[in-house]
Amino acid sequence: MYHHVKELMYTVHVDTPDPRFGNMLLEQFGGPNGELAAALQYSIQGLNCEDGERKDMLMDIGTEEISHLEVIGTLARMHLKPTKKERAAAEDNPLISIVGGGGVGLVNSMGVAWTADYLKISGQIEVDLRSDIAAEARAKITYERLLNFCEDPGSKDALTFLMTREIAHMKSFMRALESLGKDPLEVGQIPPDPKFVNKYFNDSTGTGPQGETDARGPWNMDGFEYEESPVLASVSRTVASRQQHRR
Ligand code: MN
Ligand code: MN
Repeated sequence: MYHHVKELMYTVHVDTPDPRFGNMLLEQFGGPNGELAAALQYSIQGLNCEDGERKDMLMDIGTEEISHLEVIGTLARMHLKPTKKERAAAEDNPLISIVGGGGVGLVNSMGVAWTADYLKISGQIEVDLRSDIAAEARAKITYERLLNFCEDPGSKDALTFLMTREIAHMKSFMRALESLGKDPLEVGQIPPDPKFVNKYFNDSTGTGPQGETDARGPWNMDGFEYEESPVLASVSRTVASRQQHRR
């Protein structure tokens, strides 16, 4: 059950409204990594979750994201307000000024409508938690980029709060995943085929424009059998058989 309290989770004030910046803020309102997507992803994962403890966390964080939606929506609206009356600001964004009357809508910064396709809901808690960790990382970097283009102290303050909360959520999701007590590579029930699970195929070869060559590291060394690309092996077999035919 939901209840609305007439108070923002974090106080928002804008010193100088900047309609173009307000438009960029819509990424976190109706964009793929925005607050509505986060709120609905976690809440619906929670609805599907049969693990009561993790369900509680998903509902807590999903609900907090709705409060973030309210904060970012309020902030974006403060910046977009001039589009209501000022011709130059209105011309910059007719979708906001003419269709939306200077208010926020569920679109991204380019006017693309929000879609449920943004949500990742698998019905498997260790899979959902990984999607949630990734979602928080994307939200964090989006806020960071917005902050890099922001000069208004009041807006910076609110954006820093929202960015920080995403890291806090990321921490909870990571801890919740660890606390399942599963091996980090254990997903679902069916074990992977041991014939293929420890192979690394060198499928990208040669030297790149920046001098990149085949790299070795923990991602293809420890516990991995390093094999040349199956394509290269098949090409060399084809070449060998053609040479045999010619003889
Ligand atoms: Mn958030
Ligand atoms: Mn979050």
